[in-house]
Amino acid sequence: MARDERGVTPQSEDFSAWYNELVFKAELVDRWPVRGTMVIRPYGYRIWELLQADIDRRIKETGHVNAYFPLLIPESYLQREAEHVEGFSPELAVVTHAGGKELEEPLIVRPTSETVIGEMMAKWISSYRDLPMLLNQWANVVRWELRPRMFLRTTEFLWQEGHTAHVDEADAMRETLAALDVYVRVAREIAAMPVVDGEKTPGERFPGAVRTYTVEGMMRDGRALQSGTSHYLGTNFAKAFDIQYTAEDDQQEYCHTTSWGMSARMIGGVIMTHGDDKGLVLPPLLAPYQVVIVPIGRGGQAGQVLPPAGELAERLNRAGIRTHVDTRTHLSPGFKFNDWELRGVPIRLELGPRDLAGGSALMSTRLGEGKSPVSLDSAPARLQFELTAFQELLLRRATDFRDSHTATVNSWEEFAEAVKTGWALAFACGQPECEDDIKAATSATPRCIPTDGPPEEGLCVRCNMPSAYGKRLIFGRAY
Ligand SMILES: [Zn+2]
Repeated sequence: MARDERGVTPQSEDFSAWYNELVFKAELVDRWPVRGTMVIRPYGYRIWELLQADIDRRIKETGHVNAYFPLLIPESYLQREAEHVEGFSPELAVVTHAGGKELEEPLIVRPTSETVIGEMMAKWISSYRDLPMLLNQWANVVRWELRPRMFLRTTEFLWQEGHTAHVDEADAMRETLAALDVYVRVAREIAAMPVVDGEKTPGERFPGAVRTYTVEGMMRDGRALQSGTSHYLGTNFAKAFDIQYTAEDDQQEYCHTTSWGMSARMIGGVIMTHGDDKGLVLPPLLAPYQVVIVPIGRGGQAGQVLPPAGELAERLNRAGIRTHVDTRTHLSPGFKFNDWELRGVPIRLELGPRDLAGGSALMSTRLGEGKSPVSLDSAPARLQFELTAFQELLLRRATDFRDSHTATVNSWEEFAEAVKTGWALAFACGQPECEDDIKAATSATPRCIPTDGPPEEGLCVRCNMPSAYGKRLIFGRAY
């Protein structure tokens, strides 16, 4: 198949090759020699900054405050919560030497911060008046990754982790679900990802959690991407770290804690939810450049067009539209069109001498066919409108895709067929061995017990035992 050097393997031909080529060619990331790590280049990092700013705003609006805790954790701290350390052990990076000698106690590079923050909560909380304590941290964490994939599974990744302490289960559960709701909104409203939220089955729980909730997105190859999780930790960490408070009746009580996280993995989600054969398709709210102006014309003509192109960009930027002028004079317009398509820019404006004389520019959208003129005078309002429409189109398109790749199934044959191309809504018995068996046979795992799933009884799609959850689960192959 012929394609120019900048192009990528078509998504429809090989999804995995498409993704792996695209993250480099769109200049989102670069390689680094340490296993599973990546450099996030400015174009990729800008997407993260936009996402991060939105998440941060919502976290603060729901009453949380940011703090920062250390990267290195004494090994003994991690060992205090048995399930937690067991769950994370294989992924830990351990510092044994520092300052030119062996350390008395090895230090763990944080895989998550429950243990660090738990220790500090124990110190900072003494009375019911100190509760709830609502903390969030923006940080990098390290989990050794044997099958790395850019953004999706990397040894070091960027995220936020919320950690909260409460007087009782009811308040902690409210928090767990409120955090989940933030993730649903971030995914839908900013990333245009129509995620499904729900609870994880026991086999898929976070190590040390009593209940784990998730938001799951469907990628364009039909696989699921766990895009954010929220955990009710009960009193497990409070007991391990002695997080106690004096209640109103003067009794000593353990706090009920939660933790929740969303990471730069979301960028992988955006790529795989919206991208197509030509490359990235970015939701305007996360696009580093929402509009790119390509000046048209050769030699003197290009020179003539550049100042008005710059002026137009300035007007658009002042109107809050992130606009970039492609001033690369050594490249042809055709090359530039392909380049910005590959990089997912929502709207392209062509500006040539003839357009300029007519007081307009030629607009094309990343998913549209054909071009339409936009009057320069009213360009800010028109483009604002077009960007909003494009953002909505992406959510609608992704929702249609998800719905047309989700099947309600009642037999094992239907199940096995459905999870080849998407999700299956099926009954399950809840036995861990049965989940393992389903996974071994099809690679599919229970993604969640969907919050919005209607109550329904039935028999396990694999073993015919009664359903354990009172509703159908979503099964799918996952990243
Ligand atoms: Zn079963």
